[in-house]
Amino acid sequence: MKVQSTTTQQDDHFLISNYDYKSTNIEKNGDKYIAKPQITNFKFKTDTRIPKVGVMLVGWGGNNGTTLTGGILANKFNITWNSRRGTHQPNFYGSLTQSSVIKIGTCNTEEVFVPFKDVLPMVNPCDIVFGGWDISSMNLADAMSRAQVVEYDLQQKLRPYLEKLVPLPSIYYPDFIAANQGDRADNVIPGNNKLEHLNIIRKNIADFKQQNNLDKVILLWTANTERFCVEDPNIHGTAEKLLKSIESSHPEISASTIFACAACLEGCSFINGSPQNTIVPGVIELAEKAGVFVAGDDFKTGQTKFKTCLVEYLVGAGIKPKAIISYNHLGNNDGKNLSQESCFKSKERSKKTCVDDILESNKVLYPTEEELNIDHTIVIKYCPETGDSKKAMDEYIAEIFLGGRQTFAVYNVCEDSLLAAPLIMDLLLLCELFERIQFSKDSSEYQRFDTVLSWLSYLMKAPKSESGITTINSLSRQRAMLENLVKVCAGLTIDDNLRLEVRYG
Ligand code: NAD
Repeated sequence: MKVQSTTTQQDDHFLISNYDYKSTNIEKNGDKYIAKPQITNFKFKTDTRIPKVGVMLVGWGGNNGTTLTGGILANKFNITWNSRRGTHQPNFYGSLTQSSVIKIGTCNTEEVFVPFKDVLPMVNPCDIVFGGWDISSMNLADAMSRAQVVEYDLQQKLRPYLEKLVPLPSIYYPDFIAANQGDRADNVIPGNNKLEHLNIIRKNIADFKQQNNLDKVILLWTANTERFCVEDPNIHGTAEKLLKSIESSHPEISASTIFACAACLEGCSFINGSPQNTIVPGVIELAEKAGVFVAGDDFKTGQTKFKTCLVEYLVGAGIKPKAIISYNHLGNNDGKNLSQESCFKSKERSKKTCVDDILESNKVLYPTEEELNIDHTIVIKYCPETGDSKKAMDEYIAEIFLGGRQTFAVYNVCEDSLLAAPLIMDLLLLCELFERIQFSKDSSEYQRFDTVLSWLSYLMKAPKSESGITTINSLSRQRAMLENLVKVCAGLTIDDNLRLEVRYG
């Protein structure tokens, strides 16, 4: 695809697009709103050179880590496999960047769509070099069998590639994850000195980058859900205080926060795929100083994706959700870890907040704070027989016309890691792309996006935003935001869905 426009310039290294952003400024005058449309000029500059990228996963030997690594290798080497349903080809279904399309315009009256990945130059996932850590020493072939996610025949075909991959020893603070994880922790960096731990992880990152001749590395936490650390401004509040707390091996410094600090100090962006409060203010300051991104929290895979769609549909239709009752039956190691109350609490928090902004937006349905307090209940039960095929059972009760009720009972089988792996890939590819984009507002100096990469909220259950910026949970708004950003950077027109060119030529 090539854009021909006077507002877009391209040379060997950069694509620059000029974009007039139209917004509406609202002023309140008593009980009236005064709407003032305005236009702000932005320039987006994208470095079109594709770097050699390495990814280090924390929790590499887990269900997500092995499924992602094996799935990408299956695609890279075009490995086919057999099951009772026949012969299967590898694909990237479930990946926004690889398997979804974006409308770029109309040809006569026909709408034209291209793959998301073709709008701006992006890294090919098959070119990513993977590495990482796990507290379990199993090589990735054995870890994939333990996970019981991938079909047996594919496991066998991937074995020669995966058995050579062994996670680095990791830091293990048993107080932060469930006690039932202790029996797999045979690959642990010794000692209790958190500064030494930080330095070892930093060295691991530097060695990985150098040994694989990489231009950049991104770190992603897909290890067990930790309990929340007891956040305290004196411990976690600034970069300096955080580093001091690490130096004194403070008990409220979690393993995930050590990894986040190590990433920032090595100039790598960090993504948190679990719900806990890893990205404390001190981490954000370290990332800011290093010019890297942080993003989180918790992958938005099956049930939450559905929930944010359904609630958006109801509220958008003027129907009032009054209760959401969610049951989860989980049989994988994630479920085992979440069976401990402290870890469950982290998950409950991220699952519960996901519809708040959708309800808050509609003051017709929810005129008071009290009414916003709907009955939103989360239950997670560890049922080993369920394996990685998580069962999500949700009841949605909504109030309709004249006091009537509409109830949905939804049964959703989420093959957890098969949904999570392509989503993790998208997080990595988009984070890498956003590291190559700069913008200028009203002819100011070019700058990078804010440190907390809330552009990725489509992929996060409890999206973290820059301070002062409200979080958007609506899936369609999150997706439109991403789609529009890449279109704007490419110099394409954003679609407002009026379709006037089709209706009136
Ligand atoms: P998993 O239990 O199979 O894998 C986690 C791995 O992390 C394990 O191999 C474990 O040994 C390792 N680990 C634990 N502590 C570690 C540490 N300090 N350092 C290095 N490794 C460590 O879990 P999973 O199904 O792969 O999920 C991973 C995380 O992603 C969980 O926190 C889960 O809640 C989160 N998540 C998963 C999904 C999904 O759909 N699969 C969705 C949202 C969030």
